[in-house]
Amino acid sequence: LSDRIKTPRGTSDVLGDDALAREQLERHAKRILERAGYARIETPTFESTALFARGVGESTDVVQKEMYTFDDGGGNSITLRPEGTAPVCRAYLENGMHKLPQPVKLWYLGAFFRSERPQHGRYRQFWQVGAEAIGSDDPAVDAELIVLLAEILEAIGVQQVRLVLSSLGTPDARAGYKAELQAYLRAHEHDLSADVRDRIDLNPLRAFDADHPGTKRVMEAAPRMLDRLGDEDREHFETVRRLLDGVGLAYEVDTTLVRGLDYYTRTVFEFTSDALGAQSGVGGGGRYDGLIEQIGGPHTPGMGWAAGVERMLLTSPSPPTAPPPLDLYVAYAKPEYKDTAFRLAADARRAGHSAQLELGGRSVKGTFKQADRAGARYVAILGDEGTALRDMESGEQRDVETDTVMHHITHGL
Ligand code: AMP
Repeated sequence: LSDRIKTPRGTSDVLGDDALAREQLERHAKRILERAGYARIETPTFESTALFARGVGESTDVVQKEMYTFDDGGGNSITLRPEGTAPVCRAYLENGMHKLPQPVKLWYLGAFFRSERPQHGRYRQFWQVGAEAIGSDDPAVDAELIVLLAEILEAIGVQQVRLVLSSLGTPDARAGYKAELQAYLRAHEHDLSADVRDRIDLNPLRAFDADHPGTKRVMEAAPRMLDRLGDEDREHFETVRRLLDGVGLAYEVDTTLVRGLDYYTRTVFEFTSDALGAQSGVGGGGRYDGLIEQIGGPHTPGMGWAAGVERMLLTSPSPPTAPPPLDLYVAYAKPEYKDTAFRLAADARRAGHSAQLELGGRSVKGTFKQADRAGARYVAILGDEGTALRDMESGEQRDVETDTVMHHITHGL
């Protein structure tokens, strides 16, 4: 006997109530986003590696350590998508969406892949629902997207949600700030973790995410990007805040929020849940006014977010899951009635009923048991005396002509 094959580490099957809960989440997301004018988009599960290297940024953890990258056999480097924003921007460019009325508003739901160390709430294949608005730098776009994610989290019932918000300014302002932060980090080099020290040149902002106690102490007094914003960036941020205040969405300004991906400009935000433990990020995003240029397009502003499906469901109550109604359960007393039974079930479904055929070779007794488990309203058993039709609700049973079954399940026995 050979070893049984299992799912790869960091992946899992989605079954039963979990599958129903996902379906419900998708329905909420669809309703809330499409009501605001966001259209569904599907992009490929894999893309050219260059898209993520250039779009997400060479210095990020995602690109440096977490991508599933392979040769497609023809010498092309391919990567399973680790995130959705760069692919959506690629699709915007490739499909000439700049010719549509701007901003173009899109949403997606799908699987993403990161080769991380699995733990509670962190997987190697996970699902995200995401939304992007490309082609406008209006702060109302930022505020609207944040409000929409808040609405989705509320609809799903995600518990103990907090929203943190900051601004990273424009690339120019950030370049100046980066140099200032690098000088500060070098001056405190001996107190930093090796990891942070190694990345002073490449990605100094990530020092704000460190758990290392020495680094944390250093970062408490570190200069903040939020204090270095230019006038326009500050005004943009003030407007986002005012719009959120106006709809009563509570948030905290967190000057240490940098987020893991390189492409963010101006607004960044994150929803966390204290019910989640270490991996507390439920969803987040921000503005990425330079991303489309990074991947070869003209300067085009954009803003978006992604939220983890597994994490949203981990922190929300399981929805009540009733089995879908079943109008008719069809079985046959003898093999020679199998074809007619098969046809009856198919005809019933075509007429708009829900109908299942007995496929387990059960006895009559077993058939009734199974029909009851499946929640069937009527059971039809084809036999020598025509069809025995039982109303499972009243317990009444009659022999009827097989071709009148449909009439009876519509109008009663
Ligand atoms: P990010 O693209 O890193 O901003 O992630 C957005 C959201 O996706 C996070 O807030 C999580 O909810 C979810 N997420 C990211 N990485 C993972 C992972 N490895 N496993 C499960 N969920 C994840």
